[in-house]
Amino acid sequence: MIERSVVVRVHEGLHARPATQFVKLAKGFACDIEIRCNGRGASAKSAVKLMLLGVKENDEAVLRAEGEDAADAVSALATFLQTPGAGDIALTPARAPAAAAAETAPPASSSPAPVRPGCRGVAASEGTSIGPAFAFFPQPLVLEPRTVSPAEIPGEVARYRTALAATVASLGEAKSRPGLKRDDGAIIDALIGVAEDADFIAASEAAIGAGRDAESAVTSAGQEIAASFEAMADPYLRARAEDIRSVTRNLVLALLGRRDASLAEMPKGSIIVADEIAALDLAKATLADIGGIVCRKGAATSHVAIMARAHAIPAVLGAAIDEATLRAASSVGMDGTTGEIVLDPGETDRARFEAAIEREAGERRSLDAYRTLEPRTRDGRRIEVAANLGSLGEIEGALASGAMGVGLFRTEFLFMERRTLPDEEEQAETYAALAKAFAPHPVVIRTLDIGGDKPVAGIDFEHEDNPFLGWRGVRMCLERPDVFKPQLRALLRAAVAGNVKILLPMIADVDEVRAVQALLAECRSELDAAGVVHGAAELGVMIETPAAVFLAAEIAREVDFFSVGTNDLTQYVMAADRLNPKVAKLNRTEHPAVLAAIRQAARAAREAGIWIGVCGEAAARPDLIPFFVENGVTELSMSPASIPRAKKCVTEI
Ligand code: PEP
Ligand code: MG
Repeated sequence: MIERSVVVRVHEGLHARPATQFVKLAKGFACDIEIRCNGRGASAKSAVKLMLLGVKENDEAVLRAEGEDAADAVSALATFLQTPGAGDIALTPARAPAAAAAETAPPASSSPAPVRPGCRGVAASEGTSIGPAFAFFPQPLVLEPRTVSPAEIPGEVARYRTALAATVASLGEAKSRPGLKRDDGAIIDALIGVAEDADFIAASEAAIGAGRDAESAVTSAGQEIAASFEAMADPYLRARAEDIRSVTRNLVLALLGRRDASLAEMPKGSIIVADEIAALDLAKATLADIGGIVCRKGAATSHVAIMARAHAIPAVLGAAIDEATLRAASSVGMDGTTGEIVLDPGETDRARFEAAIEREAGERRSLDAYRTLEPRTRDGRRIEVAANLGSLGEIEGALASGAMGVGLFRTEFLFMERRTLPDEEEQAETYAALAKAFAPHPVVIRTLDIGGDKPVAGIDFEHEDNPFLGWRGVRMCLERPDVFKPQLRALLRAAVAGNVKILLPMIADVDEVRAVQALLAECRSELDAAGVVHGAAELGVMIETPAAVFLAAEIAREVDFFSVGTNDLTQYVMAADRLNPKVAKLNRTEHPAVLAAIRQAARAAREAGIWIGVCGEAAARPDLIPFFVENGVTELSMSPASIPRAKKCVTEI
């Protein structure tokens, strides 16, 4: 037996990606290899067991191998463990295409769906569309357990092995699909590692051996392993339970001879019909191919709606249609401006939608002239019409739409689409690239605005009953300087590349602003001490809580600008959840109570001599733009697709 003790230097420990690679390396040797850490041991050839050991960077691990090539194995594996870069590739929390997929359930009835003229939902992203329906309804798998007689066991095991081979092959195919996002390949590798895991296979086959059918055997083995991950303290490893469940689902689907469809497989021009769609699921689709979106849940300020507007995809959310009817539709006509939905439209409706599509295309052509314009009101006031962005990939579209800078860069997407936090270096590069692309126009970059409703690997969010009233945005950041300061330093570093402004979300107290100012001062000294170049950046706050409105005069003395977040301000002023279609009629920015709040904040800005912008979705509304401008707003920031029309509105004031 060869035994060797090593200190693990793999960056962030043996999480999924390095664990998969470590196991691959171990499987290249014939000998038995065990790795021990924190008083527990696991086979080095089982990714699942290895991840459950929870080996962290700087832990001491012992490698033990027995067999002909034991010395070589221990030496190779020890080298791996001592290489910091062995696990450097960040994995995203997004599920792999196979896991993100939704089962295409058979239509509830084979007779045509009833035509439902006049059916309405929340108008979430404007534009008319008509096209084939693409049903996206992930269904829980309902199994009917069978008892397998001893004579049937070998056949059942063979069935399981065939399903396993098919699952691994289809994951491999998914990996070679063109257009796969960065890191998706690594996630799929991790999923293949789970499917082929020796312990998972052994547990499944043991359950079959005990007389269970293959579907139930795989399900119970998968559930047990997923539960072990869920019990782990590390939130990143806890989230691995999702990988186990998705592989289990794929195995069961293969056994049942069914398969999942994913948004990636949606035919061009389809209207997605769904219960709800996560922003990350949508991100997996080829957005340019989506004809429209109809969901039973969600509202105008859901992130799926924001994404739809950013990509000019018509969307109606919160549609009051029962699931079976929606799922049975074979085509859909929809109007994202009025919220109208017609399932399986007849000839008259079809002609009406087609005429509207034609008319809108004409309007878009007539707005083209406004793209390059620097809009001024008739009395000569220049208004900056800027873009709301969430990633560097959206820069080109924003510039093409005529964005005069960025009024809101939502940095949370940089944090959400991955399994490790982005470091200062990576953030500095991203923010600098954004600033450079729009220079000399300003780019307003908002610090991390995230809470318990949007988990991020590396930040331990506890369950909260009211995440919108909870530990989020600047509240969380101030308690996690290890997360916040790298972002602030990155922003100061990026300020040399262009006109960077820092925006703080969810401010409800002057002390929060002062605490950020103190942290910024610390960051500047640290950068000076390290000889790192950095620049000056204006500091502003979102006006999105009623407290910030009441304290606006006091806060205005501390900052350089205000940006009104009408999405949250409306939900907090009206006490009406922005995601709940049932209270959509209260969730109206044009409500006198919300307008009074905006007026008060604008007055405070004017009296303090600072500028004020609007970056919530209402900034793009032709009916509200005159109100904002009359009250002294000088910047409006919105989805790029709305920019030309907003510019036209300004010129008419
Ligand atoms: C807002 O609340 O209006 C806003 C712009 O921020 P978000 O939609 O990201 O909460
Ligand atoms: Mg907000």
